[in-house]
Amino acid sequence: MPLTSLILDGFKSFADKTEIQFTNGITGIVGPNGSGKSNITEAIRWVMGEGSAKSLRGRSMKDVIFAGSEFRKPLNRAEVTMVFDNRQRELDLPADRVTIARRILQSGDNEYLINGKQVRLRDVRALFMDSGLSQNSLAIISQGRVDQILNSQPKERRGIIEEAAGVLHFKQQKQQAQAQLETTNDNLIRINDLVKELE
Ligand code: ATP
Repeated sequence: MPLTSLILDGFKSFADKTEIQFTNGITGIVGPNGSGKSNITEAIRWVMGEGSAKSLRGRSMKDVIFAGSEFRKPLNRAEVTMVFDNRQRELDLPADRVTIARRILQSGDNEYLINGKQVRLRDVRALFMDSGLSQNSLAIISQGRVDQILNSQPKERRGIIEEAAGVLHFKQQKQQAQAQLETTNDNLIRINDLVKELE
């Protein structure tokens, strides 16, 4: 599922609308310290539904909005769009080109859009989960994460390997199914009690 471009508009240091195009092969992004390289990977995680301002190096989610500089006034909204080539239908949508966007307003309100249509965060998460990609997946490894993986405990490392192998999604489904089974069993016990009372 190739990511063909990323459009940043008012996100962190990207005050002007900026499109980064990813062609076939490897794309390297180079620049001096503080020029916004990490902001690009953060923008990707943000669109995918990142909910922790801390993990985006901010205090509140509104901190992703361009906060102004010596020469420019602060903005009142930020928007990031990911554009995917979906000709292989890896994303479960009947479209060759899929855009996924998130915007945040100064009020703190977030909006998510899939192909221009407003959706819920859970729709975005579901779309990515089925593709094996999520904001926490190992497709995105930020600075410090390599050390964290190398120094992790065996149990944590197993979790990382399970996630990479795509097992995590099924484990979550199993947990949900087990919880539903327990609820159904409780309901059955209650019904049996009622039947006995009526007999
Ligand atoms: P390094 O090579 O040191 O890791 P980098 O190229 O990855 O740096 P980033 O950490 O992505 O750079 O960018 C940091 C820059 O983004 C800082 O200059 C910071 O002031 C700016 N920045 C972060 N949030 C905002 C914001 N909300 N508004 C304006 N600028 C912001």
